[in-house]
Amino acid sequence: MKNTRGILLIVITTLVSFLLWFFAAQAQLADPLDRARHIVAGLALNGFFLNFLLATRNKTLEKWFAGLDKLYISHKFIGLGTIALLFVHVVLSDQLKTSDAVNIRVVTGGLAMFLLVVLIGITLFARNLPYEKWRLTHRVMLPLYIIALLHVNLSSHISLLKFSLLSVWVWLTVVIGILSAVYVIFFYQKTSFKNKGKVSNVTKLSSNVLEWEITLTKPINYRKGQFIFIKVFQKGFETAPHPFSISGGDEKKILLTTKVSGDFTRQLYDSLELNTEVAIEGPYGFMDFSHGKKKQLWVAGGIGITPFIAYLREDHPDQQIDMYYSYMGPEAGIYKEAIEEYQKRNKSFQVHFIDTSVMPFLTFDGYSLTSDTDVFMCGPEKMIKSYAEYFRKNNKNARLTYEAFKLR
Ligand SMILES: Cc1cc2nc3c(=O)[nH]c(=O)nc-3n(C[C@H](O)[C@H](O)[C@H](O)COP(=O)(O)OP(=O)(O)OC[C@H]3O[C@@H](n4cnc5c(N)ncnc54)[C@H](O)[C@@H]3O)c2cc1C
Repeated sequence: MKNTRGILLIVITTLVSFLLWFFAAQAQLADPLDRARHIVAGLALNGFFLNFLLATRNKTLEKWFAGLDKLYISHKFIGLGTIALLFVHVVLSDQLKTSDAVNIRVVTGGLAMFLLVVLIGITLFARNLPYEKWRLTHRVMLPLYIIALLHVNLSSHISLLKFSLLSVWVWLTVVIGILSAVYVIFFYQKTSFKNKGKVSNVTKLSSNVLEWEITLTKPINYRKGQFIFIKVFQKGFETAPHPFSISGGDEKKILLTTKVSGDFTRQLYDSLELNTEVAIEGPYGFMDFSHGKKKQLWVAGGIGITPFIAYLREDHPDQQIDMYYSYMGPEAGIYKEAIEEYQKRNKSFQVHFIDTSVMPFLTFDGYSLTSDTDVFMCGPEKMIKSYAEYFRKNNKNARLTYEAFKLR
């Protein structure tokens, strides 16, 4: 699936912003530096609007970007672009030497810059900050946006309070941007987790992988390969939602298979209790094997086996699947026996196990990917990206669908 519509959304809104600010600046401002300063600020405001909108995890937007992971990649680059624009704006403002005494314009501009520098500092120097704490720091974006808006209204030589195409556009994006931010910060977690359930079974599959079953109060409509966000209401557990692929089950009972990778997954593994209440949101994701081509190549790395195993719990004799499952050490090869069983039953399914503790890393050198094959991959980001690059280089028409278990 391609993210063309998502990219178009970014390009079109940026172009509209650029053109409206450009023509307004051309008509109303004499100094070219001053014009550039206004256009750059206008583009930065558009960046804020887009990023708040993308953060809503709206299902239509997910479709337009061909997955939440790709959507968050755009989100990251828009954020970086917006920060760069704000710095350019400050440099241009300095060069204009407008001899502003310390007044509300200077204060709002300075405050916005201060918050921005704090955010950049956190992003650059606190890479190991737990995900949830890092996400909380992102809330600074809303006050930053509001201060930036105040600053624009106070210092712009182009009035946004008079009716014009530009002012309609700016206020429309501001309203959507602020509503999106308010929803994400104050309402998303309270209103989106409507489907409740209870933990009805817990099985330890290895020394760090847990399979847990959830019985839902109302059925969930999902495709095998998709993922959900889940909140677990057990005393002492982190309350923030976490994303996990559905690794099996039906509409009323779903299975999740989680590997210890930090505090929350450690809590799950060590002490998740039966009957613990949970709430889920979703499903999301485009690992849709049933709608793929008849011929498929699957690549799973470690815990990235989960979306595949959900699909392999039922037989699909009509599909020709070539699977590569890479893991480190025999214990990490969870579901190996189940996959071998599936292979015995389904002659058109072939699996290759790559235990990297005793075998070289998996490469696809010499593998000829034909255009009638759909590729699905799930695993560590580095591994998936390098295979994706390789497949694209070797076959321009390759249809790749992948998930790297990362939304940051
Ligand atoms: C689409 C998707 C599907 C996933 N499916 C599975 C699965 O089937 N099995 C499995 O074991 N793991 C899966 N993961 C990874 C899992 O979400 C993280 O390992 C888990 O949230 C880590 O939480 P933690 O507190 O234990 O570790 P932390 O140390 O807090 O986090 C480790 C990393 O996990 C990610 N992460 C943590 N919290 C969140 C969050 N709330 N939202 C988004 N990302 C977060 C971040 O990249 C972070 O750097 C999936 C991730 C994604 C994005």
